[in-house]
Amino acid sequence: MEVKTFGVIGAGQMGNGIAQVAAASGLAVIMHDIKKEFVDRGLATIAKNLQRSVDKGKLATAEKDAILGRIKPTTELRDMTAADFVVEAASENEAIKFKIFENLEEICAPHVILASNTSSIPIGRIASHTKRPAKVIGMHFMNPVPVMQLVEVICGLATSADTLATTLELTKRMGKTPAQSNDFPGFIANRILLPMINEAIFCLYHGVGTKEDIDTVMKLGMNHPMGPLALADLIGLDTCLAIMNTLYQGLGDSKYRPCPLLRQYVEAGWLGRKSGRGFYIYE
Ligand code: NAD
Repeated sequence: MEVKTFGVIGAGQMGNGIAQVAAASGLAVIMHDIKKEFVDRGLATIAKNLQRSVDKGKLATAEKDAILGRIKPTTELRDMTAADFVVEAASENEAIKFKIFENLEEICAPHVILASNTSSIPIGRIASHTKRPAKVIGMHFMNPVPVMQLVEVICGLATSADTLATTLELTKRMGKTPAQSNDFPGFIANRILLPMINEAIFCLYHGVGTKEDIDTVMKLGMNHPMGPLALADLIGLDTCLAIMNTLYQGLGDSKYRPCPLLRQYVEAGWLGRKSGRGFYIYE
């Protein structure tokens, strides 16, 4: 199936990045969020990112304008009737995602593929909130979307071969490289990454090292481009906690229990970069 109009639900850090790369690949994009200010903020982030490429001489101004012109912002989920492939990138919360998929089931034509950018929630569980589980798939982009090469593609038990083929083709069209994972909590990426980040938070909690030393050990000692605490701030501490809870509940093993310090930060509203404060302070 050839995809022409691409819907994105959620205009947060992942949603606006996905909308940007989809529009840059020539697709017409509909970007939805619940409030106008969230959609406007998403669009402003895209415009800023594209302007940076113009300033570096990597993108012509006319091309920047053409990409922005392909993105239609909306607060009306009904506008997704025009999309023939939808990616949901709303907050990592099961109740929110289930409701969105129930609504999309009503709004979108039966042939439309409904993908989720969830970091950890099993695709089969999301698919069970639709009447088209064969057309539900995981399309897990990495952060920051315009920069990162990988898209983890996850088939639920019922996902069809056609749905997988269309998603792989679309991933490549967007200039990304797919890797496939089976449908277990956290898939491959976050089954490995988040316990590492959680352990770094335990190191801070137990006083094994300062945040700077923990990050320096992993950067210089393991050649990671960012330390795990700085990376947690980039991902969003609410998202990190949600992923750990999904791993803990879904796999039933105490090794996935979220660090109490992570929970405390999230309860205080210290969500990382997006709220201005996490393990580090952002001006
Ligand atoms: P975010 O907090 O930056 O953005 C989430 C957006 O979803 C917000 O703008 C919010 O208003 C919107 N939203 C909430 N409820 C909604 C609804 N009912 N309808 C439409 N929009 C709604 O979060 P994010 O980092 O962009 O994460 C979004 C998704 O992407 C999550 O599932 C997350 O697990 C996943 N993800 C995140 C990362 C990361 O590094 N942050 C990486 C890969 C995947």
